[in-house]
Amino acid sequence: MVLQIVPVPCLTDNYAWLAHDPASGATAAIDAPEAAPILQALKDHGWTLSHVLLSHHHWDHVDGLPALLKAAPARVIGAAADTHRLPPLDQAVQQGDSVQIGTQTGQVLDVSGHTIGHVAYHFPDSGVVFTADSLMALGCGRVFEGSMAQMYASLGKLAALPPETRVCSGHEYTQANAKFALTIDPDNPSLISRAEAVSAARAAGRQTVPSILAEELATNPFLRAGDPAIKALLGMTGAQPVDVFAEIRGRKDRF
Ligand code: ZN
Ligand code: FE
Repeated sequence: MVLQIVPVPCLTDNYAWLAHDPASGATAAIDAPEAAPILQALKDHGWTLSHVLLSHHHWDHVDGLPALLKAAPARVIGAAADTHRLPPLDQAVQQGDSVQIGTQTGQVLDVSGHTIGHVAYHFPDSGVVFTADSLMALGCGRVFEGSMAQMYASLGKLAALPPETRVCSGHEYTQANAKFALTIDPDNPSLISRAEAVSAARAAGRQTVPSILAEELATNPFLRAGDPAIKALLGMTGAQPVDVFAEIRGRKDRF
């Protein structure tokens, strides 16, 4: 049996996620932007919270935790590198560590860049990775604390996961990301059709996450910095992928 995955819209454009292991009844929340929508989603599914996996310290991913735990006590897991600025953790993890949600084992990936200490959680048997503000649908998080090289290396770890992996990210930014991606890669047919599908989904009030890693590899400009066609489009033929990534990230910051 694999994890059942539910996105929980929070605040204006955040997503928390629920991951439920039917074999054991264990249920994890990934991030806690606010308590009420997560508690409601638990109630709607008849699930009992057992774990909270935190991605990084930003307020829009952790501020709901105290109220959530008050109503639904759970084991809190987060990055060892961030213990000084995360809420109290029951388990501090780093790259290479495992987390256990009932019968399901997740692998911790250090995906620093947006922040130092940002982690992602990959559950290989369920084909799902929780990426928050690292890899996003058609985008990636802004590089606030780490270096461009660090962020590019972090995205590389995620890009190397099996292509059928579902990418559960932390924000509904996909439509704006699509608009930007088309300025980098305007003639990519996969991107053009995905941008249309994203616009249609948003017009119908539907979520655009999770996405599939294979479609990110084909359409997300931040994962395509090593592609000769992208380099040529940017006038950077022969440049190192990390420099191409930095150029794309810089353009997005100014977009
Ligand atoms: Zn963030
Ligand atoms: Fe965020």
